[in-house]
Amino acid sequence: MTRLPVILSKGQSRNPEKRGLEEAVAAQLAEHDQLDVIVMPHVYDLTPQSEGYQALSQIAGDFVIISWLYSRSCHWVLDRNGIRGNVGDVLLSQTQDDALDDDDELEDELDDDKTRVISQLALPDRKIYSLEFGSSDAPADFVDEVLRIAAQADLMQWIEGKANQEMLERFLEPVNDTAIGVHDALPVLGQAGVTEVQDQGMRRWYPVIDFSRCTNCMECIDFCLFGVYGVDKADTILVDQPDNCRKGCPACSRVCPENAIVFPQHKTPAIAGAPVDAGALKIDLSMLFGAPDAQNAAARERDEQLMLAGRAPVGTAGETESEKADFANISMDRRQPVAQSTNSDRLDSLIDDLDALDL
Ligand code: SF4
Ligand code: SF4
Repeated sequence: MTRLPVILSKGQSRNPEKRGLEEAVAAQLAEHDQLDVIVMPHVYDLTPQSEGYQALSQIAGDFVIISWLYSRSCHWVLDRNGIRGNVGDVLLSQTQDDALDDDDELEDELDDDKTRVISQLALPDRKIYSLEFGSSDAPADFVDEVLRIAAQADLMQWIEGKANQEMLERFLEPVNDTAIGVHDALPVLGQAGVTEVQDQGMRRWYPVIDFSRCTNCMECIDFCLFGVYGVDKADTILVDQPDNCRKGCPACSRVCPENAIVFPQHKTPAIAGAPVDAGALKIDLSMLFGAPDAQNAAARERDEQLMLAGRAPVGTAGETESEKADFANISMDRRQPVAQSTNSDRLDSLIDDLDALDL
């Protein structure tokens, strides 16, 4: 039998409805022998040295994680903290219309000549399935999806000649059988079948890089004046000093031309890692990320943080040639040319519209 670890990453808030959903999902998953259920604090807040990440590092194969983050954000938060793998397809999503089609759309969108950092990463041969607590308030939906993934993993083992008859039979069973629907007497957390990692992380705020989009252009390291970004020995961008980031500031996500920088806790879904072309939320990403308007909005946000830190503001990229020259001279030793500036109001308006949606 292939045992499938299922990680439940608890949210930051004390909202009783959220806590109730987490507990009910954990309890119902624990009813299934082939699942190892591990509950831990919010993975975004934990450090790589934490007990939670130590537990995650013990998992060598596929696993499922359910968190309050968008799926993309969760995957790259884990990656930033040393837990790596390939993205596993999931059917349950906050943006149902785009479930499973997301990868196709992303691939279409990124169908260009640019080399993405992910192509140079040596990822372990396993899949990480990232589910979003926000996709349903029915615990059984999560159980069904986890069992579907577990059955799929069994089938892969079978195809690779590593499975037994029991695995195949389980794969052939419908996931919506009566056993899954019986949840009258639910166990509670702490009961056998659920392991809980107790360490509490401090609330943190830092960017994570989606390396499936990042082109290693270095715009972000040029832009950030707080020493958050660095490069590894292969000269690949990384979030080197995450806790240097200024709480609430998402500035560098706006200068990234590839929409590769995610702030998982930001209130704007597009910045928090949502699939922005889903459903009714149609956004021109070129307006929101990397465009000249976005550069100026980002520069204003960075100036606010510089002043809060008692440092001198740099200013925006400017409207006139003289202002642009000043900006280039005083801001930083840039590796990329300063972008042309146009109408910054349109970006502010777009961001306001996004915030108003409050998805
Ligand atoms: S700006 Fe974006 S694409 Fe460029 S290195 Fe930074 S994260 Fe990667
Ligand atoms: S949000 Fe601001 S402080 Fe944080 S990494 Fe980006 S530019 Fe640097």
